[in-house]
Parts: sequence; C-alpha cells; structure tokens
Amino acid sequence: TSFGFRTVKTGEKARLVRSVFDSVASKYDLMNDLMSGGVHRVWKSVFLDRIGPQPGEQLIDVAGGTGDIAAGFLKRADERPSAERKAPAKAVICDINYEMLKAGETRPDMIALGERLTRVTGDAENLPFPDKSFDTYTIAFGIRNVTDMDAALSNAYRVLKPGGRFFCLEFSHPITEGLQKAYDAYSFSVIPWLGEKVADDRDSYQYLVESIRKFPAQEAFAARINKAGFAQVKYENLSAGVAAIHSGWRV
Ligand code: SAM
Repeated sequence: TSFGFRTVKTGEKARLVRSVFDSVASKYDLMNDLMSGGVHRVWKSVFLDRIGPQPGEQLIDVAGGTGDIAAGFLKRADERPSAERKAPAKAVICDINYEMLKAGETRPDMIALGERLTRVTGDAENLPFPDKSFDTYTIAFGIRNVTDMDAALSNAYRVLKPGGRFFCLEFSHPITEGLQKAYDAYSFSVIPWLGEKVADDRDSYQYLVESIRKFPAQEAFAARINKAGFAQVKYENLSAGVAAIHSGWRV
C-alpha cells in the first residue's frame, strides 16, 4: 500500500470534518452497523449493482474511508465471466483523512486485494490525479462533508475519462412527511446517544445528523451535478429517500 501526500486545508468546516473523522476512525465500521441496523450494507450493495463493475476498469473512490466501495467494486469485477480473459480491475481509495484509510488497511478483505487497491490521502476538491485518469468515480457518504461541493463535482468530472461515470451514494430526504418525522425522532435522539455510548463522542454524531439535514434534496443535488458538466444525470431513492444514488456520465 502506498500513501500519497497529505492535504492541509483551513476553514471552519474542513477543520470540523477532520476532527470528526479523526475521532471516529477506529469505531467507524461498527458505528455504521449500529446506527443503520446494517442497512448501509444493503445500500452499498445496491450502489455496486448500479455501477456494474467490469474487469479492466480503473476506479477512484473518493472519501473512500475504510474502503467498502472500492473493495466491493474489485470483488464484483472479479466475478464477471470475462474476468479470466481480461486484466483485473484496479481501485484507488482517496480520503482526506489518513486515520480513516489506516483503519481499513488491516481488514482481511482489504489485505486479500493486495496491490490492486491503492490508498492516497487527498482532498475531493483538489484531487491529486491527472485529468481523464479513471473509468468510474464513486463517492459514498462523502460529498456531504466537503466544504465546496461544486469544486468536488468539477474535480470528479476532470479526473474521469470521456465516457466515464460518476456515482454518488448519500443520505437524502425521506419522501413522505410521516417518514421524515420518524426519521428525525430517531436521528436526533438515538444517533447522538449511540455516539456517546459506543464511540464516546456525542458531538461528532450530532454533527452527522445536522449535516444530513442541511444537504440538498434529490432534485437540487441532481441539478448541481448537471451544472458540473455531467450528462444524463439521474437519481434513485433508497429506503424511501433516507439515502439516494445519483449518477451521471462524463461525455
Ligand atoms: N465512503 C466510506 C463509506 O461509505 O463507508 C466512508 C464515508 S465517511 C462517512 C466520510 C469520509 O469522507 C471520511 O473518511 C472523511 O475523512 C472523508 N472526507 C471528508 N472530507 C473530505 C474531502 N474534502 N476530501 C476527501 N475526503 C473527505
């Protein structure tokens, strides 16, 4: 595994996000399971279904954290019937936080992927890769945390090859008022409580809940992706809008 350089960024949100993920890194995978009752695994699996990884492809998984998406991508590409004839897929996990990358590095499923999985520290807003480098760009539960989302989307466009695809999995907004109410009740009480009990860090999980509320709704976010240059932008709600998959093509 090779590590790139560290990007240091100032600004209030960037500092806050850094401290949140420094603090939660070691408990990150466990907390995901507890908070979502394991549902995040289902969402990630649907996300990979939609992506349809192929042998020979180059993935960049931005804000990749411990690496669920990148590892899932490689495993699925390997399962394709054409995998025996083609070069294996490769993936780069890029995350601004070294602690998150490190927390994933020791997982047995990651070790098994060896050199096909590379970890690089870098900022979604200023990715340390040349233009037109990748076939697929993914960002799962990451774009909500970046300070300048439009800069991150432009960077996604920049590093994709023409014909490359952008996929984002993110918390979104439940599609009915009843569900929104139930969801608010859960997230404003249970999540900070779990954060305190399991990770000894109520504030970071309070931040998580607030950042989800502030994130643009499905249509508004699709419009931002379109503004960054992507074509055929669409989205799909998961769990009635608790999360959504947005996608687009670089032409
Ligand atoms: N994609 C992983 C997953 O689905 O399990 C991790 C998601 S985690 C909620 C969000 C990640 O975004 C953290 O690892 C954090 O360090 C990273 N992050 C936050 N701001 C970033 C930025 N500007 N550039 C790159 N990564 C960033």
